[in-house]
Amino acid sequence: MHPEPTRSDLSAPRSHVAVVGGGVTGLVVARDLARAGLRVTLYEAETRLGGRVRATDVAGLRCEVGAEAFATRGGAVAELVTELGLADQIVAPAALGSWLVSAADGTAVPLPPAGAMGVPAAPLGRAARRALGIPGAVRAAIDPLLPRRIGAGSVTLAELVRARMGARVLDRLVRPVTLGVSSTDPERIPLASLAELSAARAETRSLTAAARRLRESAAAAGGAVLGLRGGMSALVDALAAACHDLGVTIKLGTPVTSVTPLPSGGLALRGGVSEVHADAVVLALPEGPIRQLLSDASAAPAQSTPVEVIALVLDAAHPAVAQLAAAPRGTGALVSAPASPAPASSAPASSSPADPDIVAAPRAIVAKALTHVSQKWPGIVGEHREVLRLSYGRAGDPPATAALGDKAALELALQDASRILGTPVPASAVLGFARQPWQMPVRSARPPQEAPSGVHLIGDWSTGAGFAALIPAARQLAQRLATSLSEFTTPHTLTEQA
Ligand SMILES: Cc1cc2nc3c(=O)[nH]c(=O)nc-3n(C[C@H](O)[C@H](O)[C@H](O)COP(=O)(O)OP(=O)(O)OC[C@H]3O[C@@H](n4cnc5c(N)ncnc54)[C@H](O)[C@@H]3O)c2cc1C
Repeated sequence: MHPEPTRSDLSAPRSHVAVVGGGVTGLVVARDLARAGLRVTLYEAETRLGGRVRATDVAGLRCEVGAEAFATRGGAVAELVTELGLADQIVAPAALGSWLVSAADGTAVPLPPAGAMGVPAAPLGRAARRALGIPGAVRAAIDPLLPRRIGAGSVTLAELVRARMGARVLDRLVRPVTLGVSSTDPERIPLASLAELSAARAETRSLTAAARRLRESAAAAGGAVLGLRGGMSALVDALAAACHDLGVTIKLGTPVTSVTPLPSGGLALRGGVSEVHADAVVLALPEGPIRQLLSDASAAPAQSTPVEVIALVLDAAHPAVAQLAAAPRGTGALVSAPASPAPASSAPASSSPADPDIVAAPRAIVAKALTHVSQKWPGIVGEHREVLRLSYGRAGDPPATAALGDKAALELALQDASRILGTPVPASAVLGFARQPWQMPVRSARPPQEAPSGVHLIGDWSTGAGFAALIPAARQLAQRLATSLSEFTTPHTLTEQA
């Protein structure tokens, strides 16, 4: 269990910490600091909490259009969820596996069991042979026979996979998985950022054995990912309620625009309507806003990949939807990227620049992934509805949907869903749909400049995306900060000037 912080004497003046950013990271930091007895104010620019966790009402159904699950690795998310009293809300996805669909011709094969990032744990297994073809599977199976030095000097995931298992594993499995899951090409994923894979490699002789080891440890943890019955926004709601109970002041619709050291010690925050002084500041933000707040003009602009999520709620009573539900392609599919840039006719955004409501019939699948939400999380969605979620936009390839009006975006999503699932998904079955644009961070090559004393930075630009990395990092930061403030700070008197 996470150690219960000792609450200091509440009658004594308490240090004041300002947490900027009301996503999961900021909420976790704020809660832990308040539990340690500190006075905490959380500032959120938007009028809602959650950041990249967001639920939207679609045809009367609460649909998650941001993060939908958490990785079990490390156990930190489940531990937090349990502390918040949500342990009985944890649900495992249906064990249906997922599929891999070729963008070019719609060919679909089940995704082989993998340990990490699509690296096959059994290269000669039936699913791997189907995905890779016999030559590709045989090449991959040589990996355990290769000397350890092969690929030892690799810097990126792509270099390692190519050296040890061959180009087909990279192109047909690893690239679709990393682009589909984190919108990042394996050529841009440093091995140094993959702690679990590195640890498994250090203990095993081959990449195949490392993948198998990771697969076994995920199975031991109850599966690689888990969800919550109320969706990941239930985590945000529970964190917000806990912060409220602990006396955290939450200021919504309050963007912080500057943080500057005060001559008398402490820090001044500006933005919204008032100036606030605090003993310490935590910036729990994406890299771009952090650079803006620190006026870090020296560095290259923050990197991120624009993506768009489209959620479709379908009428389960519609004959086409009944057919879809009867023969699903697992819990969804990843789409292998076209080998070369899509031809003009397959890029609806550029093929119809004059009218954003016209979509040309695409030859290739444009979506990068589809989650069959109602198959993946049967306990969450319930009956009478079938829910699909498509995502668009890969690294270096902005979402084609961005330039489309709602009508054309829906039409494209239905075309893509039909091809990915191998069965028609007609417009007449749609009860409602929602679109949500996002920015996916690219792990920072050059983190923001050193922050002023008392300002602490955290975000998935440094930890890597996802709650399994962010939540333990947020808790460690809160613990370090609480300890240092209780030891060294003379609490700053709160001043707030309208
Ligand atoms: C489509 C999608 C699907 C994903 N799926 C998963 C998944 O299944 N599992 C998983 O683990 N991860 C997933 N992720 C990643 C995960 O959502 C993020 O890593 C995580 O939510 C980041 O949380 P955060 O609090 O650090 O940042 P954010 O959620 O971005 O929160 C930052 C907050 O700061 C606020 N803010 C910005 N500037 C200011 C300012 N100047 N002043 C005040 N407030 C400000 C923003 O409004 C925002 O609310 C997904 C991400 C996306 C986009």
